[in-house]
Amino acid sequence: MPVAHRLWREARERNGLGDRDLVELADRWGIPEGRLRTVANFYPRFSEPDAAGEGTAFACEGFFCGLAGGGRATAGDRAFSCPGMCDRAPVRWHPKRGFAAGTAELSEPAWDPEVELATPTVFRLARTPAFFTASAGESVAGDLYSPAFPGLRGETLLEEIGRLGPRDRRNPAVTLAERWRRAAETAADQRFVIAHAGPGDPGSQANRQLMVHEAARLLRGMECCGRAIGATEGVIHVGSENPATTAAVEEAVNRATAAGFLGTSFDVTVVPGFGSYVGGEETALLNAVEGRRGEARVFPPEPEISGLFGRPVALAEAETFVLLAALGETPVVSPATRLAAVFGDGFARPGLAEIDGDTSVRAVLEAAGVADSAWGLLFGGPRGTLLLPDEWDLLLDPAEWVSGDIRPGNWSFYALTADHEPRDVARRLLDYAAAENCGKCDPCRLGTLAARDLVKSGREPRRFGDILTAMEMTSLCDFGRQIPGPVRKLARAFGEKIFARA
Ligand code: SF4
Repeated sequence: MPVAHRLWREARERNGLGDRDLVELADRWGIPEGRLRTVANFYPRFSEPDAAGEGTAFACEGFFCGLAGGGRATAGDRAFSCPGMCDRAPVRWHPKRGFAAGTAELSEPAWDPEVELATPTVFRLARTPAFFTASAGESVAGDLYSPAFPGLRGETLLEEIGRLGPRDRRNPAVTLAERWRRAAETAADQRFVIAHAGPGDPGSQANRQLMVHEAARLLRGMECCGRAIGATEGVIHVGSENPATTAAVEEAVNRATAAGFLGTSFDVTVVPGFGSYVGGEETALLNAVEGRRGEARVFPPEPEISGLFGRPVALAEAETFVLLAALGETPVVSPATRLAAVFGDGFARPGLAEIDGDTSVRAVLEAAGVADSAWGLLFGGPRGTLLLPDEWDLLLDPAEWVSGDIRPGNWSFYALTADHEPRDVARRLLDYAAAENCGKCDPCRLGTLAARDLVKSGREPRRFGDILTAMEMTSLCDFGRQIPGPVRKLARAFGEKIFARA
């Protein structure tokens, strides 16, 4: 069992891990104490006296909870990082009682252990519906566990996936078949399929909702990917802060195993996460699954060459595997169909928008009832793109984005309204980046701090652009390269307000 997972088990049994516990465990397990400390220190929940789940509540200090008026731990609770409940922001969490949604203050929160499982509202704006087309009950029924693209495997299956053309969600310039072929062609005694479904990337809650309501297709898509690349092991990474979601997806795995779909040529393991891992950065996820510090890796080699435990990995978000299964069904769906979380007080009707390349940003905003006072749109989360009103006729088709400065991030939509000051948004973006980066490279670690200080002090705005450029050009991973995008655009559009002295 990986180190972090062993530590987590001990933390729960001992009600938190202190110095003496780590010394004793290092001795008992024959693992250097320093190695245990580097892992235990990375995940604050390991040292919490409430690791066993008694007593204290946690306040999310994540980016969207902050924008929604929360993001402050008070005397009665502790802070923790994004649990992937941005659609309910601001949230508090209690290990025994569940989430209290929309709660900025601690006084009498309405705890709900089932809120994770709520069925989302879906706007069907795409030409071909692909998601949430089965009911929650059907989605875990045994008879739905049939292989996607039956009879195909290896290169034949990769060719079929390539012919259909689904693309990488975060980097739409690349097709899934291109990425996964590299894993298939890398010589190895084992390969893995990983569904990226844990919290960590603010605004990516659609993955959590798919794990609950589309679990059968998630497993069928993973099994299909396994056949394509020659993998026999799949991993679903789920946040330990989402126990109801974890239970739902574990139940789906058990049912699929009982139905004979899993357990012979392909197995799936549900692996808990223990806290944030660099805004959902892929290589940090690999470390988290391996039970190491959830920090980014230096690459190349890419995960398809040397990923989990040094073996090739086909890694994609849960949504991608659900779409892959749907592509093998009748009626045929478009590979361009995507889910976008639309959330926050700036929308009268928040939910999930099912979009494709013919959907415009404006169509999403109208369907969800955007507030009249909206002055900007954060598209794709904190590592995405700030869209100003004159850009809202943009089509959500990456092939149309000629300027190159539009990044879809996690494809979510959050409206910035009269309740959000541009300066406060810039500060919160940089606060988030300063808290979330893994500290491995100087441009990102120091750049976020320096940029934040400039915004807070209102001094030297000209240096601000230089710092952001250095981050974009020299950071080790996408986190440091992508954080400057929305901040730079805020500074360009609202420079005087952002650098006004407090
Ligand atoms: S850019 Fe550097 S410091 Fe920032 S998250 Fe990536 S590796 Fe860590």
